[in-house]
Amino acid sequence: MKTIVQKYGGTSVSSIQKLKKIAEKIARDRVSGVNYLIVLSAMGDTTDKLVTLSNKVSKQPNPRDYDMLLSTGEQVSVAVLSMILNNINVNSISFTGWQAGIRTDSTSMMARIEAINVKKIKSEFMKKNIVVVAGFQGVDDKDNITTLGRGGSDTTAVALAAALKADECQIYTDVDGVYTTDPRLCIKARKLNKLTYEEMLEMAGLGSKVLQLRSVEFASKHKVPIRVLNAHNIGSGTLITKEEKKMEGALISGIAFTKDEAEVMIKGVKDQPGVAAKILGPIGDAKIEVDMIVQNVGSNGLADFTFTVSRNTLKKALQVIEKNKKTMMYESVISKRNIVKVSIVGVGMRSHAGIAGRMFKCLAKNKVNIRMISTSEIKISVVIDQKNLELAVNALHNEFKLENK
Ligand code: ADP
Ligand code: ASP
Ligand code: MG
Repeated sequence: MKTIVQKYGGTSVSSIQKLKKIAEKIARDRVSGVNYLIVLSAMGDTTDKLVTLSNKVSKQPNPRDYDMLLSTGEQVSVAVLSMILNNINVNSISFTGWQAGIRTDSTSMMARIEAINVKKIKSEFMKKNIVVVAGFQGVDDKDNITTLGRGGSDTTAVALAAALKADECQIYTDVDGVYTTDPRLCIKARKLNKLTYEEMLEMAGLGSKVLQLRSVEFASKHKVPIRVLNAHNIGSGTLITKEEKKMEGALISGIAFTKDEAEVMIKGVKDQPGVAAKILGPIGDAKIEVDMIVQNVGSNGLADFTFTVSRNTLKKALQVIEKNKKTMMYESVISKRNIVKVSIVGVGMRSHAGIAGRMFKCLAKNKVNIRMISTSEIKISVVIDQKNLELAVNALHNEFKLENK
């Protein structure tokens, strides 16, 4: 029997009116003989409000309580949608993550799904019920409620689709699909019809939060086809699937960017073996993730060591550096918050040389200074000043002619 998983994101369920529209859509589109599983996010900015509430009460809340609080938003939306569905004679049942059989590890605020027991869901399908599951949550082996990280309802949907061997996992959101870049920053952004898991992994990993990175990792591993669609418009959306042999990859498929970067420059470190380890060791021990790293050779045997971290860990990173001044042996530290990372992504890069040169030339022509560069087989990232973000994204979109198919 065919199974379809559909996930509706926060903006798509932000009011009773919108929930009613979704219920009507489910009622209208359903095909008899197909099982439907609906995953919902919290209504609108509910999760942000819960974070604010927690911050008001406690600077360092007990992680267990924090997850308990944050998970409540999704519970409201599934209960309300199920009520509306039943009002219009569509049989449904709402489940929390735990009731849906979602087991996670114990990493609070960023738990990983370890196993799903779909017995309960399947028995509801047998009763011809539509099953509505709270996204973003599960329980660990001690029955503590856990949450899956911001944007985690995408991962709930993909994981359930994998466990149920669903035919498709449809992610309904507030745009028509995955675009060449964020349509809110570039009006020429074009909706893509198809994208490989690999490209979407890079886009999501480099800041395109239209899908949570983990959901794409999960889909790629379990070969779950994802379709990103607009919750309130009809369209074919974007299909994310495995690379077909004959697929003529576009040179560049998209531009991603992230605004949550910060830069740390440690000036005047010894230019000798072991320095990078002395700096990054304590940073890693403090569980701070480092992204880009550059070391400039200076003069008199001294060098400058620069790296980026996510903005919300900058303060902690600076504390670690100050605390380890004796072993790190540096002259001074400069940090910068208002930087961003812009990346071009495309499997086509593998077979074409000269893409990096074109990217750098385009930025130079627009007087955008590049602070750092990193490359991989299918992406090139640069760190630039935040004030140049819109200019850089639009210029690169033009340079690689992304508005044309
Ligand atoms: P939801 O609440 O449905 O989970 P999100 O806000 O998480 O929605 O994701 C949708 C948003 O992702 C869009 O409104 C858009 O601004 C942003 N976005 C960023 N990059 C892209 C991209 N390449 N394609 C489409 N949307 C993107
Ligand atoms: N409500 C959660 C968040 O805002 C999860 C989600 O929407 O995917 O991050
Ligand atoms: Mg989202």
